[in-house]
Amino acid sequence: MKNQTLYTLAELDKQHILHPSTSPAFNRNNGPTIIFERGEGLHIFDMDNNKYIDGVSMLWNVNVGHGNKELAQVSFDQMQKLAYSSMFYGYSNEPAVKLAEKITSMTPGDLDSVFYTSGGSESNDTAFKLARFYWERKGLANKKKIISLKRGYHGVTVAAQRATGIEVYRAFSGSGDPDIINAEPHLTSCELGDINHPSYQNSIRGTIEREGVNHVAAVIIEPIQGAGGVHVPPEDYLQAVRKLCDEQNILLIADEVICGFGRTGRSFGVNHWDIVPDLMSVAKGITSGYAQLGAVVMRTPIMDAICEVPDMLAHGFTYSGHPTACAVGLKNLEIIERENLIDQADQMGKLLLKGFDYLNDKYHFFHNGRGRGLLTGFDLIKDPEQNITFTPEEAAAMSIVEECKKRGLLIRGFDFEPGMNIIAIAPPLISQQDDIETIISIVDESLSAYSKRLGL
Ligand code: PLP
Repeated sequence: MKNQTLYTLAELDKQHILHPSTSPAFNRNNGPTIIFERGEGLHIFDMDNNKYIDGVSMLWNVNVGHGNKELAQVSFDQMQKLAYSSMFYGYSNEPAVKLAEKITSMTPGDLDSVFYTSGGSESNDTAFKLARFYWERKGLANKKKIISLKRGYHGVTVAAQRATGIEVYRAFSGSGDPDIINAEPHLTSCELGDINHPSYQNSIRGTIEREGVNHVAAVIIEPIQGAGGVHVPPEDYLQAVRKLCDEQNILLIADEVICGFGRTGRSFGVNHWDIVPDLMSVAKGITSGYAQLGAVVMRTPIMDAICEVPDMLAHGFTYSGHPTACAVGLKNLEIIERENLIDQADQMGKLLLKGFDYLNDKYHFFHNGRGRGLLTGFDLIKDPEQNITFTPEEAAAMSIVEECKKRGLLIRGFDFEPGMNIIAIAPPLISQQDDIETIISIVDESLSAYSKRLGL
């Protein structure tokens, strides 16, 4: 019976669903790779009852783990009371207000006002609009351009897509916003003014110079780049960018969609470097994925400038401040605090990095284990000393992903640039020591199987 249902679902999926970030041709021929049925803590089960460790918290978002009954209950209760009401025309609701208070109690500095969205892309599009609107209010309406970083991922709505610095996403369907420019990431010395650096032209500072400071509204960065391959910036990078933006009168937007609410072992990614951005985009971990919700949190001077306008703010989503999503968000943040999950992510992340050290010693092609908290990754390079990368046929990252999947661990691989083979590991924040050990041992077995297959 189960197999029959599974077969039918797979066939119907093939016929009727266009999947995001999936090869449509592959899906049309083969159907979905896994049909999930239920989740429990760190684990997720398919319809054949195969059990997988969710090694990337699905899309880095299921922070409190699967099957959390408290979140299900709060959603049930809120839906019975008031499932939905709008925030247009000044309408409000209790969960939205309480969640805004909670979020702003966690954010650093005077990031004290919240605009609600339904997810990360909407948050970033909103942050761009608010940054541009802020400059209009300040009498600097020409400040429209947004500078983002290569390898950054900011979503797939038209503006967020252009901010995304991963070519395969940025180029998709050929549309775009010409006012959004990609700069080279993590060039600390250039951002501090090293004009003789060979890459200076393409740094954020070089880009501001080229575009003209009077045309630049904001710089957007992920504190730690996630979907670009888990890149932790050099130690003083974020501070250098903050200083640059202050000097040049440009707003700094932190995209905390992955990093926010504990993933990196701090409340927010920027806390690692002690900076306060002007605007912060959040989503994912705000509800641990139990409801669709995002937000832009802004500093007081921005909110004040926006509030000077008597006219309507001509921006808003049907699901801005969705009561059920906000009630889930509020309970989720309560669970993260009560269960001490941010400290736990910090400690478990350190254990994961120790495991990477062990793998680094064992496999010549394991390179640059890195991360903060439970946002971690490593490179696979055939010969790191000679910088010889694996060929596309050797498919290193995707082979390791498959080997891990066979052994019951779901992780992510990135190979969107020639020679790039990156693995990301980002399990739920509820992970315990034995879970981390199991993850490392499955990765170890998978690397070993791959290495044998290639005769490395
Ligand atoms: N920003 C970052 C850093 C992300 O990782 C993502 C999604 O992975 C987004 C924005 C886009 O969020 P969404 O998919 O909810 O629109």
